Amino acid sequence: MSRQTAAVHRPLFCLFLCPNHGQSATPGNGRRSSEAMAKKSVGDLKEADLKGKRVFVRVDLNVPLDENQRITDDTRVRAAVPTIKYLIGNGAGVILCSHLGRPKGVAPKYSLKPLVPRLSELLGVEVQMANDCIGEEVEKLVAALPEGGVLLLENVRFYKEEEKNDPEFAKKLASLADVYVNDAFGTAHRAHASTEGVTKFLKPAVAGYLMQKELDYLVGAVSNPKRPFAAIVGGSKVSSKIGVIESLFEKVDILLLGGGMIFTFYKAQGYSVGSSLVEEDKLELATALIEKAKAKGVSLLLPTDVVVADKFAADAESKVVPASAIPDGWMGLDIGPDSIKTFNEVLDTTKTVIWNGPMGVFEFEKFAAGTDAIAKKLAELTGKGVTTIIGGGDSVAAVEKAGLADKMSHISTGGGASLELLEGKPLPGVLALNDA
Ligand code: AMP
Repeated sequence: MSRQTAAVHRPLFCLFLCPNHGQSATPGNGRRSSEAMAKKSVGDLKEADLKGKRVFVRVDLNVPLDENQRITDDTRVRAAVPTIKYLIGNGAGVILCSHLGRPKGVAPKYSLKPLVPRLSELLGVEVQMANDCIGEEVEKLVAALPEGGVLLLENVRFYKEEEKNDPEFAKKLASLADVYVNDAFGTAHRAHASTEGVTKFLKPAVAGYLMQKELDYLVGAVSNPKRPFAAIVGGSKVSSKIGVIESLFEKVDILLLGGGMIFTFYKAQGYSVGSSLVEEDKLELATALIEKAKAKGVSLLLPTDVVVADKFAADAESKVVPASAIPDGWMGLDIGPDSIKTFNEVLDTTKTVIWNGPMGVFEFEKFAAGTDAIAKKLAELTGKGVTTIIGGGDSVAAVEKAGLADKMSHISTGGGASLELLEGKPLPGVLALNDA
């Protein structure tokens, strides 16, 4: 049924509606890739495996801090809590390891100390803080760590060896514990000492609950979706989303495009695009992607109308024009009302939706309508049982800005990691974990 449902929608511009679209999204392929990522989870470890053990947990506490070192968004701290609570509840001593920012050597500005009060509050235990992440003082604190205790190590990126995945450094981190848990999805696409190297010296190595949820949605739900399955891809440039688009062609029934990238597609179709963002060297690629959609039987929808501006500014003059008639000197900064209507109608037919990248320059209120409309539609669909996945990056910011974050099935905490996973790339931090 699903494959035909989308075909009832009348496209407005350059759409490929084939009754058999999506046939290439073989469940076989999907199952293979999700199995490849099936990893042992922290929930597989029971009290007998954990009581009295020291567990090294790589978390992502890379939170934004204001000038007074106060946390301005604690989403990542809250996301780390379920795994830690499970471990301390089962009698483990937990050693937390994270990076914060991009320090060049030791820099107080990037200390993890400001995290201690909030972590303690959320966990209901007094979190201890080490002044380093390796060395004698840390070893002493680890030795004194009681069952159910939590020790936060200092920023692991104070050592350049972390990002170099230095084996000696990884060995030192590993020597602190008996068990390794990786719950830092946001850095899983990097082979660093605390995300990958450490697993060579510390087993078992398992996924935390947050990591597991990311994999369940970004690999599981995407590989074996309830259909029709639609992807919405936006953002600034087609060049940064080619991998995602090509990978999604293998899986989705419907692909909706928005954001700055659409103008490269329009220009490739011979339309005038005014001063909109265009990647001249990607015109052939855009044509090839359109052809590929056709060959794969994917319904590719481009917006039929756009909101154009006379300059790139929040207070620009703006008007709605057909996508095929962008006047000279004007630039497209959002999708138009007809496109929103069509996208909404198409989305109403779906059972699974993944979204990556805003529909317009949503940072400017005047050009946020397309992005807001998608966020609202997905929130509404989630309430009706549709699986909605916000695949990281700016679309997460847009959903949060709209106050709809808790209305989606899954909001990915990883920007680069989500994108790489959606592109079908294996993540070193995940591959390194024990298979389920
Ligand atoms: P990305 O990181 O590739 O997902 O791109 C997100 C950025 O794309 C946001 O900062 C948006 O402001 C920008 N963007 C979206 N639509 C447009 C557009 N029509 N022209 C220029 N930039 C855009």
